[in-house]
Amino acid sequence: MGYGYSASPGISIFTVLGVIIFIVYLFSTAFFTGWLAKKKGYSGGLWGILGFFFGIFALLTIGFAPINTISKNYIGSGKFENNNKRWKCPKCNSDNPNSTYQCGSCGYKLV
Ligand SMILES: [Zn+2]
Repeated sequence: MGYGYSASPGISIFTVLGVIIFIVYLFSTAFFTGWLAKKKGYSGGLWGILGFFFGIFALLTIGFAPINTISKNYIGSGKFENNNKRWKCPKCNSDNPNSTYQCGSCGYKLV
């Protein structure tokens, strides 16, 4: 009695819950922004950070951004390729690493 062992003033369970929800929100928007950016051919890491700081605004920006066709993540033919995958030359059918844009055997240029 007299000590008053109630929650310290200002910090209730709702404040704690609010902070937790806010942190989860920051990380999920960061993750989703990065994922969407990578899918569109932009830097996933950079956009993840932007998503963390600007939340829904960064997500909307990347959502409306055009697909980055000059990025190395985006290789011709309308589909995204992983960097460690290889592409097949449509002219001579030989395999080429994704780090090159030109066919090693016939000189066919991808872009
Ligand atoms: Zn070729």
